[in-house]
Amino acid sequence: MVNLLDFDRDALIAFCERLGERPFRAVQLFRWIHQRGVAEFTQMTDLARSLRERLPAQALVAPPPVASEQASDDGTIKWLFDVGGGNAVESVFIPEADRGTLCVSSQAGCAVGCRFCATGHQGFSRNLTTAEIVGQLWFAEHHLRARFGLGAEERAIDNVVMMGMGEPLQNYGALVPALRVMLDDHAYGLSRRRVTVSTSGVVPMIDRLRTDCPVALAVSLHASDDALRDQLVPLNRKYPLSELLDACARYLDAAPRDFITFEYVMLDGVNDSPQQAQALVRLVRDRVACKVNLIPFNPFAGSGLRRSPRERVAAFAEVLRAAGIVTTVRRTRGDDIAAACGQLAGEVRDRTHVAQRRARGTIPLLPARPATIHRSNE
Ligand code: SAH
Ligand code: SF4
Repeated sequence: MVNLLDFDRDALIAFCERLGERPFRAVQLFRWIHQRGVAEFTQMTDLARSLRERLPAQALVAPPPVASEQASDDGTIKWLFDVGGGNAVESVFIPEADRGTLCVSSQAGCAVGCRFCATGHQGFSRNLTTAEIVGQLWFAEHHLRARFGLGAEERAIDNVVMMGMGEPLQNYGALVPALRVMLDDHAYGLSRRRVTVSTSGVVPMIDRLRTDCPVALAVSLHASDDALRDQLVPLNRKYPLSELLDACARYLDAAPRDFITFEYVMLDGVNDSPQQAQALVRLVRDRVACKVNLIPFNPFAGSGLRRSPRERVAAFAEVLRAAGIVTTVRRTRGDDIAAACGQLAGEVRDRTHVAQRRARGTIPLLPARPATIHRSNE
């Protein structure tokens, strides 16, 4: 049995060809699934009868089942999807006046282990499949259309951000077909500017994304020097800032937007001083066309970190703006249901045992910078 949510259009065409069907039949099927949200082959009325009758024995359309739904006072909705084996991942719908954004997960847990991130604290279980990534969008789009009473031509989700659980560029093989489905005019038809991959900085994969499937890119920076970034985002030891910024500059050649968004979580007394803002200006100015998005830290149990006070965030933003860098401060949404950035935790069977080792104290929360940096190949 194959799950058709695993296929981008070309893969679905290849699958149908193996069944002896012409490519246009595959496109019809693709549209039934993604544009109309139909999972039952018997309901796909204009599909050739031969195909409709053969499909059920071979294939299914199966998003991960929804384990729970929570709605916030501000309209944010969070779903927990059961992906089996004791793992569950979260997606968040964030409505705004003129558009709806879906925040999608790419992994059960995350192996990067950023200091300030609830997902990173849980450790890592496994990569999601393309079907599990696309299934989050498939479910949310069609569920919301029905819930909001939208017509077949209207859409509920205008933007997808790969900012849920996990590091999307460490699940590259499943990510790219999922992005292609999001962009495909016969599926969700989102423009490249309205699909954002957010990464903590997997340099080689930034380069591959640029050629394979350029979409909007957000890079989680959080520090303007390697010593601090090594501690906050451990991946920095492998790909330090200078290499990361060079990859960002290269990405801009192919990017659908003419800037990179740098995300910067504001941590009280850690990375939020005016001097650090100046250092950030020196780091990025004249090097990468960018916007900066400051994210007030969203606390979670056991983080040991605090959110920067509002005035400190404003002062930091002012330094960046005075240097000509477009800077926004992200409004916190859905924090009453733990759906805000960095609060997504789902349920993760941590196969790296990072959480246990951390609890036993064998992993220091803020490890010292190693004397030599060991670099392994990706
Ligand atoms: N792994 C990717 C995408 C998921 S995280 C990445 O790191 O970019 C999405 C965004 O939420 C990142 O910018 C991340 O740094 C930020 N984030 C993580 N934990 C947070 C927290 N506790 N408060 C606010 N933002 C957080
Ligand atoms: Fe992983 Fe992103 Fe969280 Fe870091 S911030 S642990 S890369 S999900």
